[in-house]
Amino acid sequence: MSTRPHGDRDTGDVPAGSDGAESWVFETLRADCDPAGIVTATIHVPGHRHNVVTQTFLLDLEALLDQLDTGLPPLGLILASGRPGSFFSGADIGRLETLLRAAPPDIEWICQAGRDLFARLASRPWPSVAVIDGACLGGGLEIALACDARITTSAPHTALGFPEVKLGLMPGWGGTVLLPRLVGPGAAVEMIAAGESIDGPTAARLGLADACVPPQQAMAAARSLIDWLRADNSHMARRRRLAGTVDIDPAERDFLAATSAAVIAGRTGGHYPAPPAVLDTIIAGLDLRATAAAKIESKAFARLVTSPVARNLVRVFRLGERNRRDTGVAAGDAAGTVTTPTRPAVVGAGIMGAGIAAAHLRSGFAVSLIDIDRDALARAVPGILEEAAWDRATRRADPARAGALAGQLRTATQTSLLSDADLVIESAVERSDVKLTLLRDIETVVGPTAVIATNTSTNPIARLARALRDPGRFCGLHFFNPVRRMTLVEVVRGPATTDATVAVAVAHAKLLGKCPIVVQDSPGFLVNRLLMPYLHESVEMLREGTPATRIDRVARRFGMPLGPLELYDLIGLDTAFYAGLVLAEAYGDRIEASPVIPALVRAGRLGRKSGGGFYDHSHDRAERPQADASATIAPLVAPYRLPERSTPDASIADRLFLPVVLEATRVLEEGIVRDGNDVDLAMIHALGFPPFRGGLLAWADALGAAEIVRRLEPLADLGPRMQPTPRLLALAASGGRFTE
Ligand code: NAD
Repeated sequence: MSTRPHGDRDTGDVPAGSDGAESWVFETLRADCDPAGIVTATIHVPGHRHNVVTQTFLLDLEALLDQLDTGLPPLGLILASGRPGSFFSGADIGRLETLLRAAPPDIEWICQAGRDLFARLASRPWPSVAVIDGACLGGGLEIALACDARITTSAPHTALGFPEVKLGLMPGWGGTVLLPRLVGPGAAVEMIAAGESIDGPTAARLGLADACVPPQQAMAAARSLIDWLRADNSHMARRRRLAGTVDIDPAERDFLAATSAAVIAGRTGGHYPAPPAVLDTIIAGLDLRATAAAKIESKAFARLVTSPVARNLVRVFRLGERNRRDTGVAAGDAAGTVTTPTRPAVVGAGIMGAGIAAAHLRSGFAVSLIDIDRDALARAVPGILEEAAWDRATRRADPARAGALAGQLRTATQTSLLSDADLVIESAVERSDVKLTLLRDIETVVGPTAVIATNTSTNPIARLARALRDPGRFCGLHFFNPVRRMTLVEVVRGPATTDATVAVAVAHAKLLGKCPIVVQDSPGFLVNRLLMPYLHESVEMLREGTPATRIDRVARRFGMPLGPLELYDLIGLDTAFYAGLVLAEAYGDRIEASPVIPALVRAGRLGRKSGGGFYDHSHDRAERPQADASATIAPLVAPYRLPERSTPDASIADRLFLPVVLEATRVLEEGIVRDGNDVDLAMIHALGFPPFRGGLLAWADALGAAEIVRRLEPLADLGPRMQPTPRLLALAASGGRFTE
């Protein structure tokens, strides 16, 4: 960090006010000294939606300290945000990206420079208090920790935390040093290694904040705190305590290290280096004075910043940001004038329709739900209300909230209820004849500007659009199962779908907290088309004699949340069979519908829902929800056995994922999605592709196109599905990348 001597800022000093009080205005903060001598620095970082810690802010803070060092010392400093509901939402991501390219010694120096600035704040003779209303995250929390005391507000938007691990990083400005000294090592490890935020009351209970008060009382509380600290100079005693070692019994420390390491290993599967680095850093720093502990932190931070995992996670974060800004259409009228629906309706109260209705209630929409079957509605409603009122903190539904939401859910068996709907999402049974009739009905009932969408998985949008007089207002809005967990939504654009319809669908999906990507109409759209080779290859390996448990273990070690055969059981083999037929019809040159799936379906093994599929799922196995069923399924697979093939673990991973990369190159060639970033987002948000790998194509880039071609060579005898595509060969020849 460079420093600017005080006085060279042209935005700088503002003359003393008429009452003798002084003010200083900088680009990112304004400081006002009241007649009593208390300075309030109000932060407002321009050019960002929330306050973020930018280089300019650090320079401004330094310049303010210069100013305060020159004149009469103030009685104290209050650091507050000029943006209600946002203290600091973290470091500027652009700044972080610069760090990703820096050399470790430079990174350590940057950490040291930041800590020096904060140490300067923490060594003034006067006390300082941070007033935290809203998000106070990462570097923002480190600034608050550099103050002598903190007031948090009890507002629900107040959240304090260190989310750095989610980007593969850890705090680098003393967070791992100060937090354990303030709240104890156990709570600090939990907070920093898990990356989850805490609310204002919890911060006060842990000792991270001195008090938690309603927002309107926060400034007065901060003033009282300054008076209180000054009265007996207790801020000096606090500083001495924070500068020293942590008083912990060695046995207790070793116990903390061992138990936390086990918890972290369970959570990360060994794929994310940041949480264990946080633990090691905190433990190593406990017996040291704070300045020495901070040096350990800087080294660990520099190691993480330069790791491929951090690069990948920052990339995934950026993809999410781009998606949040994306309107789904090219800049133009439709992008600029989206009126989002206010009276949405869902038709079909099955697994998906219920999930979609619950997502609406959860996001604050009143929603209508239609099903031809009264019993289906009656079965669906309790689950919808429970899901919509689910409290993640208590892990149960809030009955009062469920009661309140019941008034927001209208149900009916007749489409006539849709007359005032401005968006209808059809999610009835997957039968073309039913959908065609239903869509025709819906269009006759709704107003002329309502958008009509379908959640179909397998019907081409172009075919369903034939039911409508105005196909321009029609698109696919394809959610994934379970809706509450899967964030991706495919907005499927048929040949007649207008930009305005796409823009409304994209904007609406975002209001539901989803990550929408626009996909051109084609069999399997994007996600099921990419899923198909992954699933198909696992059954082929099973037919060659590779055990199901081994195939799934390799996939999970790769980082997938479920192996392919486990996923088959979750989807339901009957559903997968039907979807597979549609895909095989379209892409039969490389994927044939596997005969094993109908064999299992015929034997009643439909997956989890029937108690067994590739695994046994009996209800009395709460702890191990699935058990090896190889002996049971062997006779069902036997008629379709392929010649035995020895497949080492590394080759299992190649066979599962390289055909997906090949399919992705075809998808890009055909323009099904805009670019490889959408492929990566879809793989992460719909299929759980491991974010630490950056996405499917980021993983492919890490291998390199030439290496992929080389790895496909020994698999060539498996047929066209392992044949390099022209796009792959071109990249291999040019040394080009799949992602930009
Ligand atoms: P489901 O069988 O659980 O529910 C379908 C519902 O539609 C039933 O309640 C049925 O009574 C109702 N229905 C039938 N005809 C109707 C009509 N004429 N009017 C109103 N309601 C009618 O099915 P699901 O799994 O919820 O799937 C619904 C849609 O979502 C399908 O298009 C499917 O392809 C798609 N989808 C399913 C999944 C999945 O994993 N299940 C995932 C993504 C998309």
